[in-house]
Amino acid sequence: MPDGRNDERGPADLLITGATVLLHDAAGEIRFADDQRIVVHGDTITAIEASDGSTPAAVEVIDARGKLAMPGFINCHTHSPMVMFRGVAEDVPDDRWFNEFIWPMEVNLTEEDVEVATWLAVAEMIRSGVTTFADHYFDIDAIARVVDASGLRAVLGSTYFSTDGAAGIQQSLERALDHRGAAGGRITTALAPHATYTVSDEDLAATAAAAHEYGLLVHVHASESRTQTRHSLERLGYTPIEALRRAGLLDTQTLIAHGVGIVPEDLPALSAADRVGVGSAPKGYLKHGQDTTPIRLLAAAGVPVGLATDGAASNNTLDVWESMTYLTLVTKAVERDPTFMPARTALRHATTESAAALGLTGTIGRLAPGHQADLVLVDLRAPRLQPIHDLANTLVYSGRSDDIDTTIVAGRVLMRDKRVLTVDVGAIIDDLASRLARLTDRSHGTSIQSYDA
Ligand SMILES: [Zn+2]
Repeated sequence: MPDGRNDERGPADLLITGATVLLHDAAGEIRFADDQRIVVHGDTITAIEASDGSTPAAVEVIDARGKLAMPGFINCHTHSPMVMFRGVAEDVPDDRWFNEFIWPMEVNLTEEDVEVATWLAVAEMIRSGVTTFADHYFDIDAIARVVDASGLRAVLGSTYFSTDGAAGIQQSLERALDHRGAAGGRITTALAPHATYTVSDEDLAATAAAAHEYGLLVHVHASESRTQTRHSLERLGYTPIEALRRAGLLDTQTLIAHGVGIVPEDLPALSAADRVGVGSAPKGYLKHGQDTTPIRLLAAAGVPVGLATDGAASNNTLDVWESMTYLTLVTKAVERDPTFMPARTALRHATTESAAALGLTGTIGRLAPGHQADLVLVDLRAPRLQPIHDLANTLVYSGRSDDIDTTIVAGRVLMRDKRVLTVDVGAIIDDLASRLARLTDRSHGTSIQSYDA
């Protein structure tokens, strides 16, 4: 086991000393260890060990006494540029949200708009301790440029609909292959069919074939609500999950956004799938008056459920810590069971299950040697967090992303003392403000799609 004192790799690039560290044991259960130091070489954690009073040589040292080091938050499903539409479509049902607001406004987007909005999104994510985000949107060349320059990690997919014809899936595949491994390996990619109700069964099958051929993740909206599942049963005679199975998408690495409408009949197909995960964004479900992702069913099927925010046009924030708290509370309410989803389980969803949902187990989601140095420091001296009887309970029920003061991705400090280092936030806010009137114009009377699910 290498350590910070006499590592053949030489002095550490980054050394974090005196931290309490959130660790996972061999069974994946969460525990905390006090007064640890974390040794980072390049982008990788090389050791986590008890302090011995000395400070080994390192290029950069962070004194983390009084702080918790935990894996950075992973946003398993978002449309990051949609921060531009934050707050424009509230208190409406989902069909009106799409047909009267979002899809008519998305006609207006240019690639430059997407780039500017993504800068705002990454600033928000770095500020709230998100170190990886799985994005599903248009103009991902622009999104990839921002990921590269901002230092974040991302799983990028270029959205397509069957109304785009064969060109849709083709551009999604080309972009997935172009950007795979970019930004020093911080970008991985996915094929991104929009949803089971906007992409035909034939195109879903072609997507599964391409995913197999090129070893790509598939990121798709499916079974987003109970209503959608009911409509699918009425129109087609099978559920959205069954549509994925028939297409071959349960035999590949597939990330399902939402899964709120997953029903017990879906369980055999999901139990047989060993590389399928779900991203859950509970705040938006509550706003739209819906249920939430059925965590108990999915746990029984062995399907990892990661945390997500969806776009800020529905969730209002890209704050995954907030999603963790919502997931816990709404699941207890839906299950009518205060013992279900205890805090350590919520933290497991935020860490290892989120990594598994993206197919990135062994790379992110854990602080351990060999994993990427993607972590945040939480200031445990914040008044709202004291006193601490059980740190897991403190984090899930008292904590907020505001308590994070440092964000690190691939060993690089992106936020220090709550200051985002890689984004000129003021300039981005002003630039985006100058675009808003044009972006929200709906007088053209056209739309990118119509929602009927
Ligand atoms: Zn979505």
